Amino acid sequence: MRYSFQTMTTEAHLHFQAGPNPRCSPDEIAAQVEGAVAEIVALMGPNSPGGDLKRLNDSPPGHWIQVHPRTWHVLEEAALWYELSGGAFDPSAGTLKNLFNFQGYDLERWPEAAEPEAARQALGLDKIKRRPEDRSLSLTRPGQKLDFGAIAKGYAVDRAIEVLEENGLENALAEIGGEVKAIGLNPGPPPRPWRVGIEDPRAGEESGLALELSNAAVASSGHRLRYFNYGGRRYSHIIDPRTLQPITDQVAGVTVAHPSSCMTADALSTALSILGPDEGLEFLRRAHREAAAKVQGVEVIMFIRDRKQDIEVRVLAAGPEGVLMRSA
Ligand code: AMP
Ligand code: MG
Repeated sequence: MRYSFQTMTTEAHLHFQAGPNPRCSPDEIAAQVEGAVAEIVALMGPNSPGGDLKRLNDSPPGHWIQVHPRTWHVLEEAALWYELSGGAFDPSAGTLKNLFNFQGYDLERWPEAAEPEAARQALGLDKIKRRPEDRSLSLTRPGQKLDFGAIAKGYAVDRAIEVLEENGLENALAEIGGEVKAIGLNPGPPPRPWRVGIEDPRAGEESGLALELSNAAVASSGHRLRYFNYGGRRYSHIIDPRTLQPITDQVAGVTVAHPSSCMTADALSTALSILGPDEGLEFLRRAHREAAAKVQGVEVIMFIRDRKQDIEVRVLAAGPEGVLMRSA
């Protein structure tokens, strides 16, 4: 069975067969998944009226906003990567994204220096106060904004699989805008690992690399959809909080595989796009030292552009057991 629906300004796809409970039809299961993803959008969408992030972003400094346990869960994951990446992954960088308009066009005027400098004051997840006792957040400066664009899709994919598993399904795939999680096998016949295509920036629009997955999640960050051109370079919608600027296409694409969490893969793909291959490897090693369980099995495919604009592929791993090597 295949289902598709629109969400998070992209498309979601589900593949699964009928579950063990005959009273719950595949249509009903798919509707449950859609509902679970809609809940995430309602809580964490940047423009969802009454949603946790919208209420926080619209609140004056000093005002505490209580958030849903799911929002808190995503925030804690984001905070971990903020800390381990030395602030490169920063869900408060949304403030800066708003200076630019990432619609695949040519930028004529770079935003005035004064604008991003003002935003620097508001930058940094550690400047948003957290009160775990009652899951509350409080802005401390004008202009601060929290944005889960780099992580919410991955979380939604994990939730989709969770709902499918709650319905007794053991073989399924969920995908939202290129972020994927697959459990068990593609029932076939014959049953075989799920095949997932990832974009290969060396090739044309149509071709890519195929990964074989069984019990793994994959997330990618790339330049295909949201970018602008300026001064002969392409810039991505990912902001490097250290330079206050969008990243260029030196890292032409990153795909991260994780044995279970698409949310983690999503955060890592964004962080690694900013850090690039060398700092990225250091970051993965630090993560392996300080939060080994979070990165066990993580493997990264990174496409890097050299001075001549040739693209080279590198595979990075946090530790010895890569999920792709295991499933290959
Ligand atoms: P992704 O496509 O998962 O790499 O996420 C990109 C999105 O994350 C952007 O569209 C922004 O909403 C948000 N974002 C931009 N820069 C950062 C950053 N440095 N850290 C975390 N999120 C960011
Ligand atoms: Mg991401």
